[in-house]
Amino acid sequence: MHSILHVLKTKQDMLDNQIYLSEIFTSIEGEGILFGTKTLFIRFAGCHLKCYWCDTPYSLEIKGGNRYSFSDVKKLINDNLQPNTYKVNFTGGEPLLQYNAVKELAKYIKDRNDEIVTYIESSCYDYNRFKEILPYIDICKVEFKMSDSNAVDYKHHDNLINNELECLKIAIQNKKVTYIKIVITSLTSLSEFKGLIERIFSKIDKENLAGFIIQPTSSINEPSLKQLLDFYDIVYPVYREVRVVPQLHKIIGAR
Ligand code: SF4
Repeated sequence: MHSILHVLKTKQDMLDNQIYLSEIFTSIEGEGILFGTKTLFIRFAGCHLKCYWCDTPYSLEIKGGNRYSFSDVKKLINDNLQPNTYKVNFTGGEPLLQYNAVKELAKYIKDRNDEIVTYIESSCYDYNRFKEILPYIDICKVEFKMSDSNAVDYKHHDNLINNELECLKIAIQNKKVTYIKIVITSLTSLSEFKGLIERIFSKIDKENLAGFIIQPTSSINEPSLKQLLDFYDIVYPVYREVRVVPQLHKIIGAR
């Protein structure tokens, strides 16, 4: 007869062996410093943040995704990975909600030894979870959420920014290719942005930062050209590799 501990452990193993994915597909990267690269996207289901301009609302409910075992997902990776793929992008939703799955799958990609790099795009809401996956990730997009995103309420915003700052620091310290992305809308506060830029560049060695992307929203509260130039002008004096880059995949009708 099995002990109660054995039964509980078996149950936990079963839970740990479940991965909720929204979708997995090959497409052209449309964001950030690596736009234009052929990419396998693994979109995790589930996100507890509430960005009002979120462009993947279908991926926010964890149970809205399809449930797989690890071996199912490994098979899906093998079936969907095309020749000449530059990277595997762990995205969401918020991939850190299922950080054990990210860790396991990123390790699986690295173990294939076929030079495909691993990439995480995350809100970086949890430094401890980010630290767990980092050894298996080559490229980190660290996104900072401005308060007008409504990702979290006012009381929790500073905690979110602190986690994002710590994730940025540890990614750079571990010599990952690391860049920053910030989404700007017509409502984003210039003074809040200026304060954040000062905090960021007081904490990191900018020589080891791979880029800074200002991403304007599209179709919803789009910032004007003048606003984008104002944000650019705040970053450029401290960090010259700043770029304003919209989401390009939408132009070619890609996901
Ligand atoms: S963190 Fe990403 S997935 Fe979550 S609500 Fe914001 S934009 Fe959407």
